[in-house]
Amino acid sequence: MTYLFDPPAPVSVPILDSGKRFPVRRIFCIGRNYAEHAREMGMEVDRSTPVFFTKPADALVTDGADTPYPPATTDLHHEVEMVVALAGGGRDVPVSRAASLVFGHAVGLDLTRRDLQAASKAKGLPWDTAKAFDYSAPVSALCPVDKARPGDDTVLRLRVNGEVRQQAELAAMLWRVPEILAELSRLFELKCGDLVFTGTPAGVAALQRGDTLEAELGEIAHLRTRIVD
Ligand code: MN
Repeated sequence: MTYLFDPPAPVSVPILDSGKRFPVRRIFCIGRNYAEHAREMGMEVDRSTPVFFTKPADALVTDGADTPYPPATTDLHHEVEMVVALAGGGRDVPVSRAASLVFGHAVGLDLTRRDLQAASKAKGLPWDTAKAFDYSAPVSALCPVDKARPGDDTVLRLRVNGEVRQQAELAAMLWRVPEILAELSRLFELKCGDLVFTGTPAGVAALQRGDTLEAELGEIAHLRTRIVD
């Protein structure tokens, strides 16, 4: 096989204490998965239909790398989220089997151009420009489930320049991980290498160039990035 030009390098994240990397296929995200965040966005808390969107795999920024402030916005927001990495897949996966697809967990940032999202919502347009831009998905190293698993009392936290901006226990999630995976698998065939962002708690706010972000999922995962010009 001869390609017209070199194919892009695979996107991957390191796996803690293993020397191996997890190759990333797709990035799925769920919106409005914490009631307090749905309310701060002026939305009804609604568990009838989950809100899904995606980011391209090459939007991923690995731990410790800088995140460029994106163009076309003056209101870049942080959303700290637990990220689930899949080492199995399928279609129409039942809730009872969905947890077995999970390879490990990370903490990530669903960076959002909030001004573009507000304009899209007002006009009933897609969210791609608000959510799926370059460098919009910083993700930590992955912690495999055979090392540690988050529980209901695991705290998801984001500090910006040392100050806590977002903090919640995972118990506050409206859709739990097996439910999210089961619902997603009704819409898409899930596969090894998929990452799923599982929603953000309240406290989202604007970032500035020069800000240092430190995200954590209990003792399981840590992420650090700086917003640069
Ligand atoms: Mn989000």
